[in-house]
Amino acid sequence: MPGPKDPSASTPVRSRSARTADLLARDRRHVWHPFTQHSAWAGDDPLVIESAQGSWLTDTDGHRYLDGVSSLWVTVHGHREPLIDDAIRAQLGRLDHATFLGSTHEPGIALAETLLGDAPAGLARVFYAGDGASAVEAALKMAYQASAQRGQPRPLYLHIAEGYHGDTLGAVSVGGIGLFHATYRPIMLETRMVSSPGLLGPGQDRAGRAVEVLTEMRALLEAEGDHVCAVIVEPMVQAAAGMLTHDASFLRGVRALCDEFGALMVADEVATGIGRTGRMWAVEHAGVSPDLLTCGKGLTGGYLPLSAVLATEAVYEAFLGTPDSGRTFFHGHTYTANPLCAAAALANLELMAERGTVARAARIGERIGAATAHLGPGDGVVEVRRIGTMTGIEVRDVGERTGFEVCRRARDRGVLLRPLGDVVVLMPPLGITDAELDTLLEATLASIAEVVG
Ligand code: PMP
Repeated sequence: MPGPKDPSASTPVRSRSARTADLLARDRRHVWHPFTQHSAWAGDDPLVIESAQGSWLTDTDGHRYLDGVSSLWVTVHGHREPLIDDAIRAQLGRLDHATFLGSTHEPGIALAETLLGDAPAGLARVFYAGDGASAVEAALKMAYQASAQRGQPRPLYLHIAEGYHGDTLGAVSVGGIGLFHATYRPIMLETRMVSSPGLLGPGQDRAGRAVEVLTEMRALLEAEGDHVCAVIVEPMVQAAAGMLTHDASFLRGVRALCDEFGALMVADEVATGIGRTGRMWAVEHAGVSPDLLTCGKGLTGGYLPLSAVLATEAVYEAFLGTPDSGRTFFHGHTYTANPLCAAAALANLELMAERGTVARAARIGERIGAATAHLGPGDGVVEVRRIGTMTGIEVRDVGERTGFEVCRRARDRGVLLRPLGDVVVLMPPLGITDAELDTLLEATLASIAEVVG
């Protein structure tokens, strides 16, 4: 296999100030970054980000970059959106933090009302957490405890190959990406895994694949359904696996199987929720409602860590009892429902409603679709997978770190992307302008052409 064309072209042409060099030296001395192989980190010439505005990030040397992945899939309206800035400042003038254990506050209450106002039917309760993984963790514990308190403890989880739900141990237990998860198998919860509905056999279509995986799931449930408390899915797209999309009929099938076998359906909308797929929630594409829904990432508009589990009243009721009954959900975090985070989230959701951001996301998705529809094997592209704005362009493997190399070329063009293996991910802020989107698409296509075309 030939290597990526002309590797020298990826040598950064940007100038670096003494300050940037000093910051990087200090970083290298003491900082441990997530998902980062530190023996390669220094050689990867990382950016030091100083400031941001709208869809743009600026580094310590004044170079501007279009934020093509919404700072890891979180930015909604843009960076430093004045109305979210104001909401956080106003909250800061009233209350920084107060515990949600034994007391409550207006931002936490109002956010729950707003979230549920636009939630899939049947979801009636909001439990706050911090990151996506901590919401997943809470949902998994809720599902087991609810089964136990209904008189039939069910210690098994059913999940999907290629799935990703975060990096805490419960979330890793229901993950299905070998590279991230295999190491931890000896210390995992007990689970059963079915194949991915997004990985198609030769000549297979997505609807056919959905039937096949649902048949597999049924067989598992027929054998061990009495022990399964929950089935957890990433609705419509397994994002971290490389934007593996599946047919909406898969989710309808999962819902029906959960009902038949008495398991809870957990929809992990940490990546897909808050408008990314062109609907507020990805489950809307299939017209189903889960028993538990997790969200995070874009909830605060991309500002602050806040996640939540939305639950049905039936799940909530399984936890009611006298204080000494042991039925309490003994779970929470010091910063649960932090008022600054809640204020940011409220402002974000209000702005989304005012601006029609979800419909705008659908239009952004269509533009991305139109600009990438022509890509195929002749361009070095294996497949373009997309739902709404969530886009993965799988490129031909032309040597080590092909996806990384495409993203590096895009960076040289002033556009920040992040690959998932050989899949180049596009996930623009939902507030991106048409002109900025054109810049993003042009840089992406040019970089793909340069590396694999
Ligand atoms: N669930 C899904 C579907 C995700 O995509 C992610 C993160 N990419 C998570 C959970 C974990 O979220 P966090 O990184 O905020 O813990």
